[in-house]
Amino acid sequence: LPVLAVVGRPNVGKSTLVNRILGRREAVVEDQPGVTRDRVSYPAEWAGRRFTLVDTGGWEVDVAGIEEKVASQAEVAVALADAVLFVVDAQVGATATDERVVEMLRRSGKPVVLCANKVDGAAGEADAAYLWSLGLGEPYPVSGLHGRGTGDLLDAAMKALPEVSEHGEARPVGPRRVALVGRPNVGKSSLLNKIAREDRVVVHDVAGTTRDPVDELVEIKGVPYWFVDTAGIRRRQHLAKGADFYASLRTAAAIDKAEVAVVLLDASEPLTEQDQRILSQVVDSGRALVLAYNKWDLMNEDRRPYLEREIEKDLGQVAWAPRVNVSAATGWHTEKLVPALETALASWDTRIPTGRLNAFLGELVAAHPHPLRGGKQPRILFATQASTRPPRFVIFATGFVEAQYRRFIERRLRETFGFEGTPISISVRVRE
Ligand code: GDP
Repeated sequence: LPVLAVVGRPNVGKSTLVNRILGRREAVVEDQPGVTRDRVSYPAEWAGRRFTLVDTGGWEVDVAGIEEKVASQAEVAVALADAVLFVVDAQVGATATDERVVEMLRRSGKPVVLCANKVDGAAGEADAAYLWSLGLGEPYPVSGLHGRGTGDLLDAAMKALPEVSEHGEARPVGPRRVALVGRPNVGKSSLLNKIAREDRVVVHDVAGTTRDPVDELVEIKGVPYWFVDTAGIRRRQHLAKGADFYASLRTAAAIDKAEVAVVLLDASEPLTEQDQRILSQVVDSGRALVLAYNKWDLMNEDRRPYLEREIEKDLGQVAWAPRVNVSAATGWHTEKLVPALETALASWDTRIPTGRLNAFLGELVAAHPHPLRGGKQPRILFATQASTRPPRFVIFATGFVEAQYRRFIERRLRETFGFEGTPISISVRVRE
């Protein structure tokens, strides 16, 4: 669902407005200052459109100064939202803090709807008109308290909100989509045949799915999966000129269509450059990943130390991916593929609640502060998960955060929350 975030400095009436939009009577219970509350988003509806309403009121974490607080809040909201409802107190007018937020909103390029709140009667409309000066377009005069003007405001917000969230949260209905990729002769079609032959069912219509003729529905232990672009797998590989190029395009297309990729490797032979390229393709795509070592029946014990070195060294970058050893020829361990797929997909879908994330980060940063460099040390303020599929995190800091420290945070995130089988990304926003 598209996300609409309500942003504004304290006391402009955000909570009242949020309650009004949600049709709730009771006041939002404000948490203790410095405590983040988990629940920041609510399902909402207006004029038949459903969206997610994000209430930034609870994100006031322990940073010095109200200006900083509001600015951080707005940045988080911007990271999360498809459109922003910016609330200003019309009785007070635009303050320096408001203007700082406006600057940030403008830089973000996100659509903004300006709410001139606390216009309780016609007399207040003149106050609202002053807010044109913010340069955010028409100020919508509203009384969150009495409900006056909220209809027009929400109509405008719905216009600003895209139909579909850019965060790709909504998981498409129907079976999960799997790309089986690997270099020629690694055993893709053998594996597919093995799996499909064992438990094949012809499924006519699966609700909510559109069928692409090159995709194949394969039911494994009662659970259907789309194996995407199987036509490419089943077609015999020609070794004509340029075949490599087309194979690689097809791999890219399959990965693109899939939610999870199984990269098939040959256990009996050294890892090749092509294997590595395919792996990078998957990692760069942000899809979930499962590694499968095929031809295990041909794996000579003499090779084992080399294989182990390969896993440690060459596959070190994807150490987070579940690994299964199989033999497509004999069917050995092919049943282990599905649990690995499910683990990777679950990780890919994971969302860490803001409260838990910041509790984790707070402890981590307290125990292991960012190293001091040239007399400077950025303060890590807080973090939010900006998206799932795959999980992407945004950390807010007061200065440049070293790559090494970012990797340290990623490592600890994985240790704490798992994420087996999914890439995760961490970006840092520096607030000036
Ligand atoms: P693709 O190009 O990746 O689809 O690979 P194929 O499935 O066509 O397999 C290439 C060759 O490897 C064929 O001769 C298969 O019979 C053989 N093969 C595939 N998997 C295994 C396996 O697990 N063990 C053994 N011994 N041979 C395999």
